Amino acid sequence: MSRFLADRFQSLDAYTPGEQPTDMKYIKLNTNESPFSPSPAVLRAISEERVRELRLYSDPTCTLLRQRIAEQFGFEKENIFVSNGSDDILNFSFMAFCDGNRCGVAFPEISYGFYKVYAELYGVDAKMIPLAEDFSVRAEDYLDVGRTVVIANPNAPTGIALSVEEIERIVASNTDHVVLIDEAYVDFGGESCVELTRKYPNLLVVRTFSKSYSLAGARLGFAIGSSELIADLEKIKYSTNPYNINRLSMLAGAAAMEENDYYMANCRVIEQNRAYLTDALCALGFEVLPSKANFIFARSDKIGGEALYLELKRRGILVRHFTNEKIKEYNRITIGTMEEMQILVQTIEAILKENER
Ligand SMILES: *Cc1c(COP(=O)(O)O)cnc(C)c1O
Repeated sequence: MSRFLADRFQSLDAYTPGEQPTDMKYIKLNTNESPFSPSPAVLRAISEERVRELRLYSDPTCTLLRQRIAEQFGFEKENIFVSNGSDDILNFSFMAFCDGNRCGVAFPEISYGFYKVYAELYGVDAKMIPLAEDFSVRAEDYLDVGRTVVIANPNAPTGIALSVEEIERIVASNTDHVVLIDEAYVDFGGESCVELTRKYPNLLVVRTFSKSYSLAGARLGFAIGSSELIADLEKIKYSTNPYNINRLSMLAGAAAMEENDYYMANCRVIEQNRAYLTDALCALGFEVLPSKANFIFARSDKIGGEALYLELKRRGILVRHFTNEKIKEYNRITIGTMEEMQILVQTIEAILKENER
């Protein structure tokens, strides 16, 4: 740290992203990327001619991409905000809707780690609400909380989802505050609450191209909500970085929206592979939380969470381990191809056998 860093950032605890090591080739099951390539239209969209156009700024209104998303979901482009990854939208939302003096924010104690970081970054008072015993989010805990509410649905790193009815109860009881539902994983079997945005002007639904649309490296996220909420986010964007989506990513996202069927078919494969991995790990004595995401959260009495993470890494398989006391016996494992899942299960079996001796 230099002596020039502003006082208010000196104790800031930054987000720790999952490892992206380059020392060897791993089976990467630690950051919830898709094992599938982007669709053919995306590969075609990034032509040499388009690369030449990188000398020009990108369209700050993002009209083509917003139009395509709007058509896909049956909204107007005024209801769509796009940005450089959904992390960017979460950042803007904390800036825009969680003013510390006015209300503060509430989110689950165990959830996406970035919520806490943004709250700290902006000095927003954060109420972190514990999960239920079974690791689910209890909707009752979020009724009439008098704060901005942020919930990942399905939640991370547990994978457990709330129903649309439960989300609606939360949104309807907090009409004087924004309720942000982070649907990063909803395509893998959760229920989207996007339709509720037509009825509730305080609901903002945040989505990403990083997981179900195989574009983590393109950095693209979008939000759906009332035109007023979207205008607020635009105001923040134009006050920070109006060209925050590059030309190639914008084209990739627009092309991806045209091949929705390809991506939804991939999601169904992930669900099948998730069922396979869940059954296989349960057969080995693991406890696996009921996941509606492209990962599972699992623990075993036979081996500690950190020990399993390290043993797998030694053998070339990366999973995500968190050091938080309440979840340190678990690992979050991304669902990959069937082949990857089979290698993982064989490797875990071998580790457990060695451990017995
Ligand atoms: C992966 C993830 C994001 C971030 O997605 P990007 O669009 O890649 O920034 C947001 N929220 C949750 C819950 C996630 O797991």
